[in-house]
Amino acid sequence: MGCQHLEELYELWLLGALSGQGSVDLRDHLARGCPHCLARVREAAETIYLLGRSPKPARPHPRVKTELLRQISRQAAPNR
Ligand SMILES: [Zn+2]
Repeated sequence: MGCQHLEELYELWLLGALSGQGSVDLRDHLARGCPHCLARVREAAETIYLLGRSPKPARPHPRVKTELLRQISRQAAPNR
């Protein structure tokens, strides 16, 4: 599927630290509903969210999480 190289970008992207082409590529890729990446991004989001609850500098922007979860739930909606 050729999206292995995106794996190291998820966390940066979720933290809003990814900009430019990488960010566009990743968002584009997720928008196509790649199940592999959606699952990994969801995991990364949860990890980051948990980390963000402790007083550490790596705190995700709340808007990023909201938007991500909205995207995921839209992409992962079961076709019933
Ligand atoms: Zn993918």
